[in-house]
Amino acid sequence: MQAKIARVQLDIDYLCPNCYLHFRLTNTEIPRDEDVDQNCPACNEPLKISPIYFEVKPIVRPEQVKDDEDSLRAIKALQAQGYAKKEAHARVRAVRRDSMGISELIREAISYEQPT
Ligand SMILES: [Zn+2]
Repeated sequence: MQAKIARVQLDIDYLCPNCYLHFRLTNTEIPRDEDVDQNCPACNEPLKISPIYFEVKPIVRPEQVKDDEDSLRAIKALQAQGYAKKEAHARVRAVRRDSMGISELIREAISYEQPT
């Protein structure tokens, strides 16, 4: 099962340009819509804190291509012809169609012109 994001916790450290103090705002303290005025906790300098936009999105990667039985046999056949494994994979994947027989697959993979 895929875990879902239930809550995002966020801390932002700000720097007072007057006294160089670092101070931290957490979650709802961080402005999201409008500037917030706050005095520096150390030197009391009035500071403007700009709102931020922050989006959390999971990265979705495309599924790994799995070679079927015929493709694996064709790759082996190409390797037997002297093709490197990586090259054989690339050629078979480039020409593979569902309706192909194994011998057609091997023939087309061998004659495949790689785009340069
Ligand atoms: Zn300060």
